[in-house]
Amino acid sequence: MHNIGGMNTAANTPAFTHDCDDCRYLGTLATPEGRTDLYRCDGGPTVGASLIARFGDEGPDYSSMPESMVDDSARVELRVAKALALDSLRPSPLRLRNPRG
Ligand SMILES: [Zn+2]
Repeated sequence: MHNIGGMNTAANTPAFTHDCDDCRYLGTLATPEGRTDLYRCDGGPTVGASLIARFGDEGPDYSSMPESMVDDSARVELRVAKALALDSLRPSPLRLRNPRG
């Protein structure tokens, strides 16, 4: 179990259904809004990888972003996903704010 600025990644099992075989499951965040499953999708050498945050079982219930753009994003969960994907779990670089607040 990791703790990143108060956001816990507690689960080893996704909370929601995700139907992409190319995705690697990274962990599940517990946020005030509910649980969010984090994935990294390897789109291949030409497309590049994307990071995905899934917050529901339905197909469209996710947000995603190219990995190269995540650092400048306000989407905290995607920055956490990148940190998990890179296995660089140092506590300081992430400034956590509610992206919807
Ligand atoms: Zn995928």
